[in-house]
Amino acid sequence: MSVAVVGAGVAGTAAAIGLAQLGVPVTVFETVADPQPIGAGLLLQPTGQQVLAHLGLLDGALAHGARLDRLHGDTASGRTVLHLRYSRFAPEAYGLGLQRGVLMGLLWQRLRALGVPWHCGATVTGWTDTPEGVRLHGEGGADLGRFEAVLLADGSFSRLRSQLVAGHGRVRADPFPWGALWTVLPAPTGFPAIELRQRFRGARQMLGLMPVGRAWGSDAGSAPGINLFWSLPLAEMPDLDRLDLAAWKRPLVELLPWVSPLLDGLTDAHQLRPARYADVRLHPTHRGAVLAIGDAAHGMSPQLGQGANMALIDAQVLAQTRRAHPQAPWPELLARFAQARRAHLRYYGQASRWLTPMFQSHQRLLPALRDALMGPVGQLPWFHGQNVATLSGMKTGWLWGRLDLSNNPWSPP
Ligand SMILES: Cc1cc2nc3c(=O)[nH]c(=O)nc-3n(C[C@H](O)[C@H](O)[C@H](O)COP(=O)(O)OP(=O)(O)OC[C@H]3O[C@@H](n4cnc5c(N)ncnc54)[C@H](O)[C@@H]3O)c2cc1C
Repeated sequence: MSVAVVGAGVAGTAAAIGLAQLGVPVTVFETVADPQPIGAGLLLQPTGQQVLAHLGLLDGALAHGARLDRLHGDTASGRTVLHLRYSRFAPEAYGLGLQRGVLMGLLWQRLRALGVPWHCGATVTGWTDTPEGVRLHGEGGADLGRFEAVLLADGSFSRLRSQLVAGHGRVRADPFPWGALWTVLPAPTGFPAIELRQRFRGARQMLGLMPVGRAWGSDAGSAPGINLFWSLPLAEMPDLDRLDLAAWKRPLVELLPWVSPLLDGLTDAHQLRPARYADVRLHPTHRGAVLAIGDAAHGMSPQLGQGANMALIDAQVLAQTRRAHPQAPWPELLARFAQARRAHLRYYGQASRWLTPMFQSHQRLLPALRDALMGPVGQLPWFHGQNVATLSGMKTGWLWGRLDLSNNPWSPP
């Protein structure tokens, strides 16, 4: 019997690869009939980079992405709010701006090379626990087979996780009242060489720019892209069919005038993509031989740039757990996994809930305090170190605790 993975996003694909590379038979189910390597720009943190390095996929990511040494955020009046240098965490540390399609392209390529059965256009609707294993159900009551274990990696808006906690746990998946419009635009000639750049006006306006390198499948010499992120309340999400693009660009240019030449590359409203996200709290994340991973278990706002990294870490820790206990039954393995992930996920969930309203909300006091305090306090060495460790994805507690990903579960025995 094999392990079923529901969802071929970052979490599901990485977990499937991680288990398959240990010799565990895996089958993947993905609802989208023809998944494409596309999506928003991602900031791959030192954590996610380390997982990719263990999988031998980091070189491919580096060949496409853009190396980022710092994050700078300021207000319209020029006051520094965030100035974080990765080297403060470790001299060789950096962030990697990447198009999500590149990450998916690399992961799917490996999944195919491993010969993992992958059913696209297959929507999982639920499961039944039987003494012989977990029976998966598809649309129209279709029987998708019996499995030793099931990993739910069906994303932030999972429709399956409620079955996991029915009667003995709880799920909260609050959609954030704010989302974003994003797009990847070609960097114009002569455009300033930027790192990860954010500009704020209160918590009401936020413009983010991040170099993300070139697209999956593009030539090595093709123009690098810049991911543009414009925060807005979901209630104000425009109808793209009727969007007046010139009027839409105006507040962005007022906030950050030198963004104007980049916006010249935005000629059709449908280049913009809406994004919404949810703050997911799921307890417990496993039951018997079924486990939720990735955004389905711990979705958060993209403010800290951690979600895809978390999904990669889930894959590594699951493989580590399996490698350390190859004979353990799946319910025991999944419980060990959940225990191993607890502190890290708790910290980032709390930090995300605490920080997001400072950057995306109608509040006035919080962003005023942010503007007054975060810049100067953040430059004090101890706080700067903590902030950079948080951004790097390495913290497992507010005061101490660091994630250790050095143990490569896929190294030869
Ligand atoms: C605008 C934006 C910016 C972001 N920036 C960053 C960043 O800088 N850094 C970072 O680390 N993260 C970032 N994230 C978060 C990151 O994209 C997510 O955390 C990550 O993609 C989650 O992966 P996942 O596999 O858990 O979920 P998903 O990518 O949502 O994948 C879920 C998959 O499950 C499939 N599926 C759903 N239901 C079913 C079903 N019933 N049956 C079968 N298949 C199903 C879906 O089609 C999908 O393919 C950002 C997110 C957004 C929206």
